[in-house]
Amino acid sequence: MQITEILVRYGELSTKGKNRKFFIKKLHRNVRTHLRQFNTVKISSNRDRMHIDLNEEDADAVMAELKDVFGIQSFSPVVKVEKTLEEAKKAVVHLVKQQFTENMTFKIMTRRADHDFKYDTNEMNRLLGTEVEKAVQPVSVKMKNPDVTVRVEVRKDGIFISVDTLSGAGGLPVGTSGKGMLMLSGGIDSPVAGYLSMKRGMSIEAVHFHSPPYTSPQALKKAKDLTAKIARFGGDVTFLEVPFTEIQEEIKKVIPEAYSMTITRRMMLRLTDAIRGHRNGLAIINGESLGQVASQTLESMTAINEVTNTPVLRPLISMDKNDIIKIAQDIDTFDLAVQPYEDCCTVFAPSRPKTKPRLHKVRELEEELDIEGMMQRALDGIVDTVIGKHSDSEQSNEDAFDSLF
Ligand code: ATP
Ligand code: MG
Repeated sequence: MQITEILVRYGELSTKGKNRKFFIKKLHRNVRTHLRQFNTVKISSNRDRMHIDLNEEDADAVMAELKDVFGIQSFSPVVKVEKTLEEAKKAVVHLVKQQFTENMTFKIMTRRADHDFKYDTNEMNRLLGTEVEKAVQPVSVKMKNPDVTVRVEVRKDGIFISVDTLSGAGGLPVGTSGKGMLMLSGGIDSPVAGYLSMKRGMSIEAVHFHSPPYTSPQALKKAKDLTAKIARFGGDVTFLEVPFTEIQEEIKKVIPEAYSMTITRRMMLRLTDAIRGHRNGLAIINGESLGQVASQTLESMTAINEVTNTPVLRPLISMDKNDIIKIAQDIDTFDLAVQPYEDCCTVFAPSRPKTKPRLHKVRELEEELDIEGMMQRALDGIVDTVIGKHSDSEQSNEDAFDSLF
């Protein structure tokens, strides 16, 4: 018996009132993007559900893709049969047998879109239920929380039956919450922060600072590979690599070590904010978690954050490292992130950074720097790459970015 269709149930977007149409449209588009390798599938959405007509495409492969689409609460593989009671009985028995466990409980839930069909929903429930009890044993009917729920839908063009409900990724469709610039290092945390923002409907662009020759080509590749990993959830992600060598060398030269970390981070945040402005982002996202390192105390965050009024979202702020690692493993970024290529923060890290930097001191020290000039040169040197989930960063197409600045 062949699966002909996947029935998709929307997540939280069902409660979004007037925005509902917008959410459904976006989800529709995102599903289409995720399934673009399957040429013949046909997607149709209505207020309550989405139907994916497989047109002979492989159901398991399509469902594996759907698992990564935010905004989907659950989905079910559906078998379509001719619109007769006999065909429905055969299919229901076959499908329940596939799920069979000793003494399992089940119920039949019929919906009828075609009211001309000979039997009403109660009759269908009874007739099909009796057939299952006869043909599959030992089983029993249970209305509340049965092991298996058989969903039967009588529509104009056939009867659609499903027994299996798989959970979707949850969240909101990517692109429904605006765009944020993700500050992406090569570490464990920032890819997880990006993933969580996409889960709440943001689309992201990745901003990565690198300092050749102090940081290696492998460190850059690692950041791009991490971007490819999270592109799995939101389609292509623009990766913006910002040359940071001059700024780090200058800071090392003129700023006392205790304050170099704070000022380095302020420069990163200023630059990210400038890029955000040019690219119409609404927020900045980073992977900070309270108390994890010296730059992540509230005093440090206050001193660093002072350079912008743009919302800086920190999805990991209250999470323990173990919880973050667990998500990194689930989304397959962990193994990459722990590869030993160091990013610019690690290479230039002072041995004893201030955990409670004083703002007036920071401002005074920054007067020694040509902030505007250094920023402009960094912005002029940005290279952007569009990274998809299958991108091999070695081969990606890099374009100079100068037209924008
Ligand atoms: P991560 O695992 O994300 O590197 P971390 O715990 O190592 O985080 P830091 O290295 O202090 O913490 O960085 C804090 C945050 O600053 C990162 O999560 C990231 O958002 C941003 N960040 C750090 N280094 C870079 C970089 N080279 N390019 C872009 N963003 C960076
Ligand atoms: Mg780091």
